[in-house]
Amino acid sequence: MSEEARVVEPTIFELSRPGRTSQAVGACDVPEKELAAVLPGVALRQDLPLPEVTEAEVTRHFVRLSRLNYAVDLGLYPLGSCTMKYNPKVNEEVASWAGFASIHPYLPDAACQGALQLMYELQRYLCEIGGMDACTLQPSAGAQGELTGMLMVRAYHREREEDHRRIVLVPDSAHGTNPASAAMVGYRVVTVLSDVSGGVDLDDLRGKLNGEVAALMITIPNTLGLFDENICEIARLVHEAGGLVYADGANMNAMLGRAKPGDLGCDVMHFNLHKTFSTPHGGGGPGAGPVAVKAPLAPYLPSPLIARRDASDGQAAYYRDFDRPQSIGRVRSFYGNFGILVRAYTYIRSLGAEGLRSVSENAVLNANYLLAQLRGAYDLPYARRCMHEFVLSGRRQKSQGVRTLDIAKRIIDYGFYPPTIYFPLIVEEALMVEPTETESKATLDAFADTMLSIAREAVDEPEVVREAPHNSPVGRLDEVRAARHPVLRDQG
Ligand SMILES: *Cc1c(COP(=O)(O)O)cnc(C)c1O
Repeated sequence: MSEEARVVEPTIFELSRPGRTSQAVGACDVPEKELAAVLPGVALRQDLPLPEVTEAEVTRHFVRLSRLNYAVDLGLYPLGSCTMKYNPKVNEEVASWAGFASIHPYLPDAACQGALQLMYELQRYLCEIGGMDACTLQPSAGAQGELTGMLMVRAYHREREEDHRRIVLVPDSAHGTNPASAAMVGYRVVTVLSDVSGGVDLDDLRGKLNGEVAALMITIPNTLGLFDENICEIARLVHEAGGLVYADGANMNAMLGRAKPGDLGCDVMHFNLHKTFSTPHGGGGPGAGPVAVKAPLAPYLPSPLIARRDASDGQAAYYRDFDRPQSIGRVRSFYGNFGILVRAYTYIRSLGAEGLRSVSENAVLNANYLLAQLRGAYDLPYARRCMHEFVLSGRRQKSQGVRTLDIAKRIIDYGFYPPTIYFPLIVEEALMVEPTETESKATLDAFADTMLSIAREAVDEPEVVREAPHNSPVGRLDEVRAARHPVLRDQG
C-alpha cells in the first residue's frame, strides 16, 4: 500500500498565472491611516498570495475534481453496514425551503411552529417504527446515539442505586463503535461469543450474565447480516439479570415495518437517519442518530425534547420542553442536525407505512438475490438466508494468492464502489455487501458479473487483480497514513 499515488493530471493544482483574475475590486476608498482603526492589525497584509485564475478555470477545476469522486448518484455503492442507498432529491427540495433552511435556533417557539411540529412528528414516527415510547433527535451520528443511550443506562441504574453494575456485554460481531461507546461512559466491556450459526452463543451469554451487568449492546440484525432468532430469549435473560438491552438500529433497513426492537425486548435504541432514512452521508457527515427508549428510560433523555400541549389558551402548541430534571443534559448544541431531520421526515412521509415496508422487503430480496449468484464463487462462512446484507469470505482467493483488498481494488476497474472489507472481524478476509433496495435487477446482475469475473481472474491471471486498480485517477493509496497524517494544504 506504500506504492506511490499515480496522479493523472499532475498540474491540476498549479493553474495560477500572474495577472489572471475573475473579478474586479475597486480601489480602496478608506484612507491608509484610518485602515488600522477599522481593521485589526493582523488582518492588514501588503501581500496576499492568492491563486490568480479566471472564473472558468476555477469552475473547471472544481467540476473536474468532483468527477474524480465516486458517489451514490453515479452508481451502486454496496458498502456493507453503511446503507448507501439513493438519496431522493425531493428530500433536498423540502430541506431547502426557506421556512426550514433559514430559521434561527434562537427563534421563540411561537415563531417556528412548523419546524417544531416536524420534529415532534419525527420523534413520534421513530417511536412507532422502533416500538418505543419516547425519542430524542439530538445526537449527530449513530455513535453519538450509542453514547447517549449508554449515559441513560448509567443514569437509570444510578437512580435505582445499582451503580455497582459496571459491565456492558457486547457480542464479538458488534460494530466497533459499540464497545467504544460503552467504554467512554466508564463501563468495562465483556465480549460475548457468536455460535456456529452466527448468532449470540446463549451458553456464553448465560455464563457472563450476573448482578454486575448494566446492559447488553446488540445489533439487530447483526453485522453478519443475520437475524438472531433467539433475540427475545436473549433480552429475557438480560432482563432477568437486571440489565438493560441496547439495540444498535443501524441495520433497521432490514426491518422497517416488519419487526420493532421494542417488541423484541429492547429498552433503548438508536437510528441512523443517514442510513435507513436516506439522508446523504459519507465523508463524515452531517448525520443524525436519534435515540428512542421505553418509558422507564424516558426521564433521562437529553433536554430539551420537542413536546405538544393543548393550545386552547393561546400558547404555542409545539414547544421545547426544558423541564426535565432527570435528563442526562444536552448531547449537542441546539436540537440536532435539523436539515437532516427534514430530509428523513420527508422520506418517511413520502413513502408512508406501506412504502417503508416495501423498503425492507426489497432490501432483503436484493441482498438474497445477489448472494445466490455469488455464493458458488466465494466462501460463505454462515450459510443462512441473509437479511439486507451478507458477508462473504475471500479466504479461497487468498489461497490462490489474491487478497480481499486486491478484490476490492479490482472492483473499482469495473466501475463500482467496493464493498466493506475486513469487517466484521470474526470473518477471515471479509467482504461485506449491502446492495440496498434502490438498485435495479440490471445493476445487481452487472455487479454479480463483476464479482464472478474477478473470482475467475484470481485463478487465471492473479497479477491483474493484485495490481488493480488499473483505470482510476490514482492507484493504491496509503489509507492509514492519509488518515493519521493528513496533508490538508498546498505544500508549494
Ligand atoms: C454505521 C454504524 C454505526 C455507527 O454509526 P455512525 O453514524 O457512523 O456513527 C454503529 N453500528 C452499526 C452496526 C453501524 O453500521
